Amino acid sequence: MSLRNSEGNSMSKNSKFKLTIELVPSTVWFFSVYQLLKRNNQLSKWRKIKEGLFKKEGRKCRICGSEGRLEAHEFWEYDDENHIQKLVAIHHLCSMCHKIKHIGFWCYTGEGQKQLAKAGLSREDLIDHFCRVNNCSREEFEEHEREAFRIWKERSSHQWKQDFGRYCD
Ligand SMILES: [Zn+2]
Ligand SMILES: [Zn+2]
Repeated sequence: MSLRNSEGNSMSKNSKFKLTIELVPSTVWFFSVYQLLKRNNQLSKWRKIKEGLFKKEGRKCRICGSEGRLEAHEFWEYDDENHIQKLVAIHHLCSMCHKIKHIGFWCYTGEGQKQLAKAGLSREDLIDHFCRVNNCSREEFEEHEREAFRIWKERSSHQWKQDFGRYCD
């Protein structure tokens, strides 16, 4: 419970789902902590963040609990009135949960589709994972996805001020 309340955007806060789609507005694409550190040749800082997560949270997906390859995901909160995008948490997710978060990339861009196929996965695999983790139907997935894109489109029509919260130094 506290997990869902303390992180994610207003959409996931209101969501009945454990695993939600969180599309980053196109106007702030490539401005994640990871991308910024990468551009500044400071990926050692990113590795430190990951090490900290392993120590604090163990080696499992924060959402579904599965073990295996873990990817750090940035959880943002959106102030839709003042257009401030605030980084509220970073947690490790398994690669399937992580792909759901960024489903816009994996299923709706040429590059993402290519990489997904290369990983031996299809959109159906992602939907299956979503439905299994959330114990929901395919229709509920589709409704959630439509809503996520509706919000994404609206947010992508604005410029956002970024607040890196406690991750900024
Ligand atoms: Zn997972
Ligand atoms: Zn991510």
